[in-house]
Amino acid sequence: MRGDILLVTGIHRVELAFGDHVASGPGMPQVMRIPHGIARPRRGPGDAFLSRTQHREIYLQLYQQIAGRYRLVIDLHQGLDEAGRSAEIFCNDSQFLARCEARLACRSDRLNARLVRIAAPASGAETTPEPRGATDAAAYTWIPRKLWEGRAPLYVGVEVYLPRDGEGEDDDWSFGRDLIGEICACVSD
Ligand SMILES: [Zn+2]
Repeated sequence: MRGDILLVTGIHRVELAFGDHVASGPGMPQVMRIPHGIARPRRGPGDAFLSRTQHREIYLQLYQQIAGRYRLVIDLHQGLDEAGRSAEIFCNDSQFLARCEARLACRSDRLNARLVRIAAPASGAETTPEPRGATDAAAYTWIPRKLWEGRAPLYVGVEVYLPRDGEGEDDDWSFGRDLIGEICACVSD
């Protein structure tokens, strides 16, 4: 697998075990494992500010480590959807999303993935992706703009929704790997 793609796991620490299972399989790009990630977004009194600050800090640290060193960074997350396994792919580059869409359309299962463009709202301050309202919805809005808007590397967030909490099972991990494989294949030569 090419060396200009980086897979990041464990930004949210409860998702690290899932990320480890996915990353340990065949065909994965270089992995940056974050052993001491942060809590998932919280929205209680006082929590939202803390959560937002933690997200900005960890993503700024990530940005400092990867800026200019990779073509693509894939930020793997895990969410919950009792309706069944699915995924969302977040990216600012609409051409990249279009390539993902085309590749996924070639698969009979389409990997049940939805493409979401990260874009700045009219006010200009923050991002406004529209996730399905699962646990990590807020996180993407708190990522520093220079990371999601950057092109070296291009930022792609991947949220794999599993029907149950926990680290997942074999099928869940291979689903994650298939998804990452398709995203990697979308990097133009
Ligand atoms: Zn997450």
